[in-house]
Amino acid sequence: MFDNWWRYKKIKLYAYGTLIATAVVVVIAAIMMFIMIFSTQNAECFNDDQTVAEAGQGIGGDWQDHNSNTYKAMRHAADRFQKELHMSGDNIAAALAVGLRESGFNPKAVNPGGAVKGIWQWGAGGINGDRYKDTQDNVESQVQLAINELKSTHKGALIDLATADNINSSLVAWDTKFEGVGVNDPQRRVADTLKTANEIKKVFALDFPGSINVFDHGNNNSGIGDNSTNANTSGLSEATCDSGLSSNDNGLPVKGQYSITGGYPNYGGLTGATHYGVDFQTTDHALSSSGGNVYAVHDGTVVAKSSDSTGGNWLVIKGTDNVFTYYGHAPTQEAIVVNNGDKVKAGQHISHQGQTGMATGIHVHFAVNTHDQFGWAPQSNGLKSPGDYLKLPQKVGTNVVVPNGPFDSDKK
Ligand SMILES: [Zn+2]
Repeated sequence: MFDNWWRYKKIKLYAYGTLIATAVVVVIAAIMMFIMIFSTQNAECFNDDQTVAEAGQGIGGDWQDHNSNTYKAMRHAADRFQKELHMSGDNIAAALAVGLRESGFNPKAVNPGGAVKGIWQWGAGGINGDRYKDTQDNVESQVQLAINELKSTHKGALIDLATADNINSSLVAWDTKFEGVGVNDPQRRVADTLKTANEIKKVFALDFPGSINVFDHGNNNSGIGDNSTNANTSGLSEATCDSGLSSNDNGLPVKGQYSITGGYPNYGGLTGATHYGVDFQTTDHALSSSGGNVYAVHDGTVVAKSSDSTGGNWLVIKGTDNVFTYYGHAPTQEAIVVNNGDKVKAGQHISHQGQTGMATGIHVHFAVNTHDQFGWAPQSNGLKSPGDYLKLPQKVGTNVVVPNGPFDSDKK
Protein backbone atom coordinates (compact mmCIF):
# COMPACT_ATOMS: atom_id res chain seq x y z
CA MET A 1 0.00 0.00 0.00
CA PHE A 2 2.75 2.39 0.92
CA ASP A 3 4.53 1.43 -2.30
CA ASN A 4 1.39 1.96 -4.29
CA TRP A 5 0.74 5.28 -2.64
CA TRP A 6 4.27 6.45 -3.38
CA ARG A 7 4.09 5.22 -7.00
CA TYR A 8 0.80 7.09 -7.39
CA LYS A 9 2.32 10.21 -5.91
CA LYS A 10 5.33 9.96 -8.28
CA ILE A 11 3.09 9.65 -11.32
CA LYS A 12 1.17 12.69 -10.13
CA LEU A 13 4.42 14.62 -9.67
CA TYR A 14 5.61 13.63 -13.14
CA ALA A 15 2.31 14.79 -14.56
CA TYR A 16 2.55 18.17 -12.81
CA GLY A 17 6.17 18.46 -13.82
CA THR A 18 5.35 17.82 -17.48
CA LEU A 19 2.51 20.33 -17.35
CA ILE A 20 4.72 22.99 -15.77
CA ALA A 21 7.56 22.33 -18.21
CA THR A 22 5.15 22.58 -21.14
CA ALA A 23 3.74 25.85 -19.81
CA VAL A 24 7.26 27.26 -19.40
CA VAL A 25 8.15 26.29 -22.96
CA VAL A 26 4.94 27.84 -24.27
CA VAL A 27 5.54 31.08 -22.37
CA ILE A 28 9.17 31.28 -23.57
CA ALA A 29 8.07 30.59 -27.13
CA ALA A 30 5.43 33.30 -26.88
CA ILE A 31 7.96 35.79 -25.54
CA MET A 32 10.37 34.92 -28.36
CA MET A 33 7.62 35.35 -30.93
CA PHE A 34 6.77 38.77 -29.51
CA ILE A 35 10.43 39.72 -29.69
CA MET A 36 10.69 38.48 -33.28
CA ILE A 37 7.55 40.29 -34.41
CA PHE A 38 8.59 43.46 -32.63
CA SER A 39 12.11 43.38 -34.07
CA THR A 40 10.72 42.64 -37.54
CA GLN A 41 8.52 45.75 -37.27
CA ASN A 42 11.48 47.74 -36.15
CA ALA A 43 13.50 46.48 -39.08
CA GLU A 44 10.74 47.58 -41.46
CA CYS A 45 10.41 50.98 -39.93
CA PHE A 46 14.03 51.88 -39.56
CA ASN A 47 15.87 50.10 -42.33
CA ASP A 48 18.31 52.37 -44.11
CA ASP A 49 18.43 50.04 -47.10
CA GLN A 50 14.84 50.61 -48.02
CA THR A 51 14.04 52.31 -51.27
CA VAL A 52 11.81 55.34 -51.22
CA ALA A 53 9.06 53.28 -52.81
CA GLU A 54 9.17 50.87 -49.87
CA ALA A 55 9.26 53.78 -47.45
CA GLY A 56 6.04 54.88 -49.08
CA GLN A 57 4.42 51.51 -48.49
CA GLY A 58 5.12 51.52 -44.78
CA ILE A 59 5.10 55.26 -44.22
CA GLY A 60 5.39 56.21 -40.62
CA GLY A 61 7.24 57.88 -37.84
CA ASP A 62 7.83 61.45 -36.86
CA TRP A 63 8.83 63.47 -39.94
CA GLN A 64 11.27 65.43 -37.75
CA ASP A 65 13.18 62.19 -37.04
CA HIS A 66 15.78 61.78 -39.78
CA ASN A 67 15.47 57.99 -39.49
CA SER A 68 11.74 57.85 -40.01
CA ASN A 69 10.12 56.80 -43.26
CA THR A 70 8.10 60.00 -43.38
CA TYR A 71 11.30 62.06 -43.23
CA LYS A 72 12.88 59.97 -45.99
CA ALA A 73 9.82 60.32 -48.20
CA MET A 74 9.69 64.08 -47.73
CA ARG A 75 13.45 64.38 -48.28
CA HIS A 76 13.03 62.52 -51.59
CA ALA A 77 10.30 64.95 -52.67
CA ALA A 78 12.32 67.99 -51.54
CA ASP A 79 15.44 66.90 -53.41
CA ARG A 80 13.55 66.24 -56.63
CA PHE A 81 11.61 69.53 -56.51
CA GLN A 82 14.95 71.29 -56.09
CA LYS A 83 16.88 69.36 -58.76
CA GLU A 84 14.19 68.94 -61.37
CA LEU A 85 12.15 72.14 -61.01
CA HIS A 86 14.64 74.46 -59.27
CA MET A 87 12.04 75.38 -56.68
CA SER A 88 13.16 77.64 -53.81
CA GLY A 89 13.44 76.34 -50.25
CA ASP A 90 10.27 78.29 -49.38
CA ASN A 91 8.41 76.74 -52.34
CA ILE A 92 9.40 73.26 -51.19
CA ALA A 93 8.58 73.88 -47.52
CA ALA A 94 5.10 74.95 -48.63
CA ALA A 95 4.60 71.91 -50.88
CA LEU A 96 5.68 69.50 -48.14
CA ALA A 97 3.54 71.23 -45.51
CA VAL A 98 0.47 70.90 -47.72
CA GLY A 99 1.32 67.20 -48.29
CA LEU A 100 1.52 66.68 -44.52
CA ARG A 101 -1.73 68.51 -43.98
CA GLU A 102 -3.58 66.61 -46.71
CA SER A 103 -2.36 63.06 -46.05
CA GLY A 104 0.33 62.90 -43.37
CA PHE A 105 2.57 62.52 -46.43
CA ASN A 106 1.13 59.03 -46.85
CA PRO A 107 0.97 57.95 -50.51
CA LYS A 108 -1.68 55.38 -49.56
CA ALA A 109 -4.02 57.94 -48.04
CA VAL A 110 -7.50 57.66 -49.48
CA ASN A 111 -10.55 59.78 -48.83
CA PRO A 112 -13.40 57.81 -50.43
CA GLY A 113 -15.97 60.50 -49.60
CA GLY A 114 -14.11 63.09 -51.63
CA ALA A 115 -12.91 60.51 -54.19
CA VAL A 116 -9.33 61.68 -53.68
CA LYS A 117 -6.13 59.83 -52.89
CA GLY A 118 -2.40 60.14 -52.47
CA ILE A 119 -0.02 62.56 -50.79
CA TRP A 120 -1.60 65.67 -52.29
CA GLN A 121 -5.09 64.13 -52.47
CA TRP A 122 -5.58 64.12 -56.21
CA GLY A 123 -9.00 63.44 -57.67
CA ALA A 124 -9.29 59.71 -58.28
CA GLY A 125 -12.37 59.31 -60.39
CA GLY A 126 -15.85 60.38 -59.40
CA ILE A 127 -16.63 63.94 -58.45
CA ASN A 128 -13.11 65.31 -58.85
CA GLY A 129 -12.25 63.71 -62.17
CA ASP A 130 -9.26 61.40 -62.35
CA ARG A 131 -5.93 63.18 -62.04
CA TYR A 132 -4.50 60.21 -60.16
CA LYS A 133 -5.09 57.81 -63.07
CA ASP A 134 -2.57 54.93 -62.99
CA THR A 135 -0.23 56.60 -60.48
CA GLN A 136 1.13 54.08 -57.99
CA ASP A 137 0.60 54.27 -54.26
CA ASN A 138 4.22 55.14 -53.52
CA VAL A 139 6.20 58.30 -52.99
CA GLU A 140 8.35 58.18 -56.13
CA SER A 141 5.39 57.80 -58.42
CA GLN A 142 3.42 60.57 -56.75
CA VAL A 143 6.30 63.06 -56.73
CA GLN A 144 6.67 62.28 -60.43
CA LEU A 145 2.96 63.00 -60.94
CA ALA A 146 3.32 66.35 -59.15
CA ILE A 147 6.35 67.29 -61.29
CA ASN A 148 4.56 66.27 -64.50
CA GLU A 149 1.53 68.35 -63.60
CA LEU A 150 3.58 71.40 -62.60
CA LYS A 151 5.20 71.27 -66.03
CA SER A 152 1.91 70.97 -67.89
CA THR A 153 -1.68 71.06 -66.67
CA HIS A 154 -0.84 72.91 -63.46
CA LYS A 155 1.83 75.23 -64.78
CA GLY A 156 -0.07 78.11 -63.22
CA ALA A 157 1.15 76.83 -59.85
CA LEU A 158 4.73 76.75 -61.09
CA ILE A 159 4.46 80.30 -62.43
CA ASP A 160 3.21 81.54 -59.08
CA LEU A 161 5.89 79.57 -57.22
CA ALA A 162 8.53 81.17 -59.46
CA THR A 163 7.71 84.61 -58.11
CA ALA A 164 6.60 83.64 -54.60
CA ASP A 165 9.21 85.26 -52.37
CA ASN A 166 8.27 83.70 -49.03
CA ILE A 167 6.58 80.65 -47.52
CA ASN A 168 3.19 82.31 -47.30
CA SER A 169 2.99 83.24 -50.97
CA SER A 170 4.34 79.78 -51.83
CA LEU A 171 1.48 78.24 -49.81
CA VAL A 172 -1.02 80.42 -51.66
CA ALA A 173 0.47 79.28 -54.98
CA TRP A 174 0.36 75.57 -54.08
CA ASP A 175 -3.09 75.66 -52.45
CA THR A 176 -4.89 77.77 -55.02
CA LYS A 177 -3.21 76.58 -58.21
CA PHE A 178 -2.28 72.97 -57.40
CA GLU A 179 -4.84 71.86 -54.81
CA GLY A 180 -7.51 74.08 -56.33
CA VAL A 181 -8.64 75.51 -52.99
CA GLY A 182 -9.92 79.08 -52.64
CA VAL A 183 -7.47 81.42 -50.92
CA ASN A 184 -9.92 82.00 -48.04
CA ASP A 185 -11.11 78.39 -47.75
CA PRO A 186 -10.87 77.25 -44.09
CA GLN A 187 -9.51 73.87 -45.21
CA ARG A 188 -6.22 75.66 -45.96
CA ARG A 189 -5.73 75.97 -42.16
CA VAL A 190 -3.35 78.79 -42.91
CA ALA A 191 -1.90 79.37 -39.43
CA ASP A 192 -1.19 75.67 -38.79
CA THR A 193 0.16 75.00 -42.26
CA LEU A 194 2.40 78.07 -42.14
CA LYS A 195 3.78 76.92 -38.78
CA THR A 196 4.47 73.43 -40.15
CA ALA A 197 6.12 74.87 -43.25
CA ASN A 198 8.45 77.00 -41.14
CA GLU A 199 9.43 73.92 -39.12
CA ILE A 200 9.96 71.90 -42.30
CA LYS A 201 12.22 74.63 -43.63
CA LYS A 202 14.44 74.21 -40.56
CA VAL A 203 14.39 70.41 -40.29
CA PHE A 204 15.18 69.92 -44.00
CA ALA A 205 17.55 72.92 -44.23
CA LEU A 206 15.56 74.44 -47.10
CA ASP A 207 17.48 77.70 -47.17
CA PHE A 208 18.12 78.38 -50.81
CA PRO A 209 16.66 80.56 -53.55
CA GLY A 210 14.86 79.11 -56.54
CA SER A 211 15.42 79.55 -60.25
CA ILE A 212 12.30 78.05 -61.78
CA ASN A 213 12.30 78.47 -65.54
CA VAL A 214 8.76 77.94 -66.70
CA PHE A 215 9.85 78.18 -70.35
CA ASP A 216 11.88 75.00 -69.94
CA HIS A 217 9.05 72.64 -69.40
CA GLY A 218 6.70 70.76 -71.65
CA ASN A 219 3.96 72.42 -73.60
CA ASN A 220 3.87 76.14 -73.18
CA ASN A 221 0.20 76.52 -74.03
CA SER A 222 -0.78 77.56 -70.54
CA GLY A 223 2.53 79.07 -69.61
CA ILE A 224 4.07 82.36 -68.90
CA GLY A 225 3.92 84.78 -71.75
CA ASP A 226 1.07 82.96 -73.42
CA ASN A 227 -1.72 83.47 -70.98
CA SER A 228 -2.33 87.14 -71.60
CA THR A 229 -5.90 87.76 -72.60
CA ASN A 230 -4.89 89.75 -75.65
CA ALA A 231 -3.11 86.69 -77.00
CA ASN A 232 -0.07 88.41 -78.45
CA THR A 233 -1.96 90.12 -81.23
CA SER A 234 0.63 92.34 -82.80
CA GLY A 235 -2.13 94.50 -84.29
CA LEU A 236 -3.18 95.59 -80.82
CA SER A 237 0.41 96.17 -79.89
CA GLU A 238 1.06 98.46 -82.84
CA ALA A 239 -2.22 100.28 -82.44
CA THR A 240 -1.82 101.18 -78.80
CA CYS A 241 1.88 101.23 -78.28
CA ASP A 242 3.97 104.35 -78.52
CA SER A 243 1.61 106.61 -80.38
CA GLY A 244 4.27 109.28 -80.16
CA LEU A 245 2.42 111.15 -77.44
CA SER A 246 4.18 109.52 -74.53
CA SER A 247 7.78 108.55 -74.75
CA ASN A 248 10.31 109.18 -72.07
CA ASP A 249 13.96 110.17 -72.39
CA ASN A 250 14.97 110.33 -68.73
CA GLY A 251 16.08 106.67 -68.55
CA LEU A 252 13.60 105.85 -65.78
CA PRO A 253 10.53 103.59 -65.87
CA VAL A 254 8.34 106.62 -64.99
CA LYS A 255 8.02 110.23 -66.09
CA GLY A 256 7.24 113.42 -64.13
CA GLN A 257 7.24 113.82 -60.36
CA TYR A 258 7.71 110.52 -58.57
CA SER A 259 8.39 109.03 -55.16
CA ILE A 260 10.30 105.89 -54.32
CA THR A 261 7.95 103.95 -52.08
CA GLY A 262 10.01 100.76 -51.70
CA GLY A 263 13.75 100.15 -51.75
CA TYR A 264 16.10 97.30 -52.61
CA PRO A 265 16.89 94.76 -51.16
CA ASN A 266 14.26 95.61 -48.58
CA TYR A 267 11.52 98.17 -48.38
CA GLY A 268 12.97 100.75 -46.08
CA GLY A 269 16.63 100.07 -45.28
CA LEU A 270 18.24 97.68 -42.83
CA THR A 271 15.08 96.61 -41.04
CA GLY A 272 12.50 96.43 -43.81
CA ALA A 273 11.01 93.25 -45.27
CA THR A 274 12.81 91.76 -48.25
CA HIS A 275 12.05 93.57 -51.49
CA TYR A 276 13.95 92.72 -54.60
CA GLY A 277 13.12 95.77 -56.68
CA VAL A 278 12.43 99.47 -56.41
CA ASP A 279 8.86 100.79 -56.31
CA PHE A 280 8.14 103.97 -58.26
CA GLN A 281 4.94 105.92 -57.81
CA THR A 282 4.34 109.06 -59.82
CA THR A 283 2.45 111.94 -58.23
CA ASP A 284 -0.03 111.59 -61.06
CA HIS A 285 -0.61 107.86 -60.87
CA ALA A 286 -4.34 107.69 -61.59
CA LEU A 287 -5.18 104.54 -63.53
CA SER A 288 -6.84 106.62 -66.25
CA SER A 289 -3.92 108.99 -66.61
CA SER A 290 -0.89 108.83 -68.89
CA GLY A 291 0.98 110.22 -65.87
CA GLY A 292 0.96 106.67 -64.59
CA ASN A 293 2.56 105.24 -67.71
CA VAL A 294 5.51 102.89 -67.42
CA TYR A 295 8.41 103.07 -69.89
CA ALA A 296 11.17 100.73 -71.01
CA VAL A 297 14.51 101.75 -69.55
CA HIS A 298 16.59 100.21 -72.33
CA ASP A 299 16.37 98.95 -75.90
CA GLY A 300 15.45 95.28 -76.02
CA THR A 301 12.84 92.59 -76.58
CA VAL A 302 9.84 91.60 -74.48
CA VAL A 303 10.65 88.07 -73.31
CA ALA A 304 7.86 87.45 -70.80
CA LYS A 305 4.41 88.83 -70.09
CA SER A 306 2.19 87.22 -67.51
CA SER A 307 0.45 87.56 -64.16
CA ASP A 308 0.70 85.99 -60.75
CA SER A 309 -0.36 86.61 -57.17
CA THR A 310 2.86 88.45 -56.27
CA GLY A 311 3.76 90.70 -59.21
CA GLY A 312 0.21 91.04 -60.53
CA ASN A 313 0.40 91.74 -64.28
CA TRP A 314 4.04 92.00 -65.27
CA LEU A 315 6.48 91.89 -68.14
CA VAL A 316 10.18 91.31 -68.62
CA ILE A 317 12.43 92.94 -71.21
CA LYS A 318 15.76 91.50 -72.26
CA GLY A 319 17.89 94.50 -73.11
CA THR A 320 20.42 94.72 -75.91
CA ASP A 321 22.82 95.25 -72.98
CA ASN A 322 21.93 91.65 -71.95
CA VAL A 323 20.31 92.88 -68.74
CA PHE A 324 16.74 91.81 -67.84
CA THR A 325 14.28 94.37 -66.46
CA TYR A 326 10.96 93.57 -64.76
CA TYR A 327 7.91 95.84 -64.51
CA GLY A 328 5.15 94.64 -62.16
CA HIS A 329 1.60 95.39 -60.88
CA ALA A 330 0.02 96.68 -64.13
CA PRO A 331 -3.77 97.06 -63.67
CA THR A 332 -4.59 94.55 -66.44
CA GLN A 333 -2.84 92.49 -69.11
CA GLU A 334 -4.21 94.97 -71.66
CA ALA A 335 -2.48 97.82 -69.81
CA ILE A 336 0.76 96.16 -70.86
CA VAL A 337 0.74 97.53 -74.38
CA VAL A 338 3.56 95.40 -75.73
CA ASN A 339 3.64 91.66 -76.26
CA ASN A 340 6.01 88.76 -76.11
CA GLY A 341 8.62 89.05 -78.82
CA ASP A 342 8.05 92.78 -79.46
CA LYS A 343 11.17 94.89 -79.91
CA VAL A 344 11.08 97.96 -77.70
CA LYS A 345 13.12 101.17 -77.51
CA ALA A 346 14.36 102.90 -74.36
CA GLY A 347 11.68 105.39 -73.31
CA GLN A 348 8.88 103.55 -75.10
CA HIS A 349 5.54 103.39 -73.30
CA ILE A 350 5.11 99.72 -72.38
CA SER A 351 2.77 99.49 -69.38
CA HIS A 352 1.00 101.33 -66.58
CA GLN A 353 1.33 101.58 -62.83
CA GLY A 354 -1.28 99.54 -60.98
CA GLN A 355 -2.04 97.60 -57.83
CA THR A 356 -2.44 93.97 -58.89
CA GLY A 357 -0.64 91.18 -57.01
CA MET A 358 0.93 92.02 -53.66
CA ALA A 359 0.79 95.81 -53.70
CA THR A 360 -0.48 98.30 -51.18
CA GLY A 361 -0.76 101.20 -53.60
CA ILE A 362 -0.59 102.05 -57.30
CA HIS A 363 3.03 101.85 -58.46
CA VAL A 364 5.41 99.97 -60.70
CA HIS A 365 7.73 97.39 -59.17
CA PHE A 366 10.94 97.65 -61.15
CA ALA A 367 13.69 95.05 -60.85
CA VAL A 368 16.96 94.26 -62.61
CA ASN A 369 18.72 90.95 -63.17
CA THR A 370 21.96 90.67 -65.08
CA HIS A 371 21.58 87.07 -66.18
CA ASP A 372 18.27 85.41 -65.40
CA GLN A 373 14.91 86.43 -66.82
CA PHE A 374 13.10 84.59 -63.98
CA GLY A 375 15.46 85.55 -61.15
CA TRP A 376 13.14 87.90 -59.30
CA ALA A 377 13.00 86.21 -55.90
CA PRO A 378 15.21 87.54 -53.08
CA GLN A 379 18.85 86.46 -53.35
CA SER A 380 18.33 85.19 -56.91
CA ASN A 381 21.56 85.00 -58.85
CA GLY A 382 22.10 88.08 -60.98
CA LEU A 383 19.81 90.44 -59.07
CA LYS A 384 21.19 93.95 -59.20
CA SER A 385 20.26 97.11 -57.35
CA PRO A 386 17.91 99.03 -59.66
CA GLY A 387 19.27 102.19 -58.04
CA ASP A 388 22.74 101.37 -59.32
CA TYR A 389 21.48 100.35 -62.74
CA LEU A 390 19.36 103.48 -63.22
CA LYS A 391 21.74 105.90 -61.47
CA LEU A 392 18.94 107.44 -59.44
CA PRO A 393 19.46 110.90 -57.91
CA GLN A 394 19.39 109.30 -54.47
CA LYS A 395 20.56 105.74 -54.45
CA VAL A 396 18.25 103.04 -53.23
CA GLY A 397 20.40 100.05 -52.49
CA THR A 398 21.89 97.93 -49.76
CA ASN A 399 21.37 99.51 -46.36
CA VAL A 400 20.07 102.73 -47.90
CA VAL A 401 16.84 104.04 -46.46
CA VAL A 402 14.13 104.83 -48.99
CA PRO A 403 14.58 108.50 -49.89
CA ASN A 404 11.71 110.92 -49.55
CA GLY A 405 10.28 112.20 -52.77
CA PRO A 406 8.90 113.44 -54.86
CA PHE A 407 11.71 113.75 -57.35
CA ASP A 408 11.56 115.31 -60.75
CA SER A 409 12.35 112.55 -63.23
CA ASP A 410 13.82 115.10 -65.68
CA LYS A 411 16.51 116.07 -63.16
CA LYS A 412 17.96 112.73 -62.29
ZN1 LIG B 1 7.76 96.38 -55.18
